[in-house]
Amino acid sequence: MANKFQSLRGFNDVLPPDTAVWQRLHACARDVFTAYGYREIILPLLESTELFKRSMGETSDVVEKEMFSFQDREGDSLTLRPEFTAGMVRAGLEHGFLHHQQQRLWSAGPVFRHERPQAGRYRQFHQLNVEAYGLAGPDIDVEVIALSARLLKRLGLQGLTLELNSLGEASTRNAYRAALTAYLEKHESSLDEDSRRRLHRNPLRVLDSKVPRTQEIVRAAPQLPEYLDAESRAHFDGVQQGLSDLGIAYTVNPFIVRGLDYYTKSVFEWTTDQLGAQGTVLAGGRYDSLVEQLGGSKTPAVGWAAGVERLVLLMQALHAMPFESNPQVYFCSLGETAERQARTLAESLRDALPQLHLVLNAGGGSLKAQLGRADKSGARFALILGDAEVTRQTVLVKSLRLEDGGRESGDRGRGMETAWTELPARIAALLSSSEDHC
Ligand code: ATP
Ligand code: MG
Repeated sequence: MANKFQSLRGFNDVLPPDTAVWQRLHACARDVFTAYGYREIILPLLESTELFKRSMGETSDVVEKEMFSFQDREGDSLTLRPEFTAGMVRAGLEHGFLHHQQQRLWSAGPVFRHERPQAGRYRQFHQLNVEAYGLAGPDIDVEVIALSARLLKRLGLQGLTLELNSLGEASTRNAYRAALTAYLEKHESSLDEDSRRRLHRNPLRVLDSKVPRTQEIVRAAPQLPEYLDAESRAHFDGVQQGLSDLGIAYTVNPFIVRGLDYYTKSVFEWTTDQLGAQGTVLAGGRYDSLVEQLGGSKTPAVGWAAGVERLVLLMQALHAMPFESNPQVYFCSLGETAERQARTLAESLRDALPQLHLVLNAGGGSLKAQLGRADKSGARFALILGDAEVTRQTVLVKSLRLEDGGRESGDRGRGMETAWTELPARIAALLSSSEDHC
């Protein structure tokens, strides 16, 4: 018996019609990024393991237990990227595009984390990623957040909450860490095992815990914003002012710390209550020391990443995007001569109408069978070519949908006979009468 192969746990196939939603999402994202002057950067999937350890921090969840790392044939330790930022900075330093420059960049693609798969949490997932470098003020924090708000709106996603916090500078976190440690030590026996281990290595990470009992303890803990240094406080005020100016609603959540060690000052998350436990669809913040930490000169930076699968789930949950791009035209032909002629006509239609979405029947079949395929494809019009039409140099154009003047599918009206030379204009006119839209 042949082996039955299955995809790996947490690695998903995305099938049609879902791929149409993915395409729409990426097209919207590309438009919005471009509209704000962000340029695409394409990065490798594999980097040295050391890069992620140095950037994300040895005690981050990702580095501690989620990386897909392996040794290659030369014995080097490599890791499938668990996020984009480390690779961006590595590329920036390698090609010198971060030094004393302002950069607005985006990227998109798969990332890999060895987590326990569940709804909205996978081992290979996809991110949209936005980063701005060389800009220190709150204006750019506001810009990347406004960009995210516009994207979510364009995707038809409503009812999301924007939560903000500030982690301040290193001095803020040192003062806060001491206060937090003292508080958590008093409750040590009630903390979950992970949190107890982190208490002395990286107590801020405890704030991020998803264990309910620990979350309860955390709620009464000292709050980070009370420890902010003056500059970070002013920056945080600037971000809030800028968002208010734009009418972008937000709430301050003093317990957002984000999972990675490199964040400074602003951190933010867009969350929803529609996706159960996996409610964060987009998250980011400022990471002013990361470039320096990876060997560059001090370069302020801010950015965010969105989870594509979670956005798609939310679009589906909110019916935000029922649109699927069906073919517009299905071309049927009967007999060998008509088949060859149909192929030629289909190519010249594609020349004349580059946006046309046309499926050419393949594999022969009776007219009934071909019209059945045309119906199933969701096409609006069928073209029919038989020997008689070849002789007259015409094609029958038949509506398949009631709203286009078609009859019930049981009734096979003959269709409108159209000369080959008139075909592009006729099809263009029929399609423009009621355009599909996003
Ligand atoms: P979480 O707290 O859910 O683990 P995170 O803080 O680890 O998220 P980030 O590193 O900020 O996530 O990644 C940005 C976004 O990527 C998240 O807001 C989420 O939408 C998405 N994401 C993160 N991990 C996964 C995953 N395993 N599967 C699907 N999407 C994910
Ligand atoms: Mg995580």
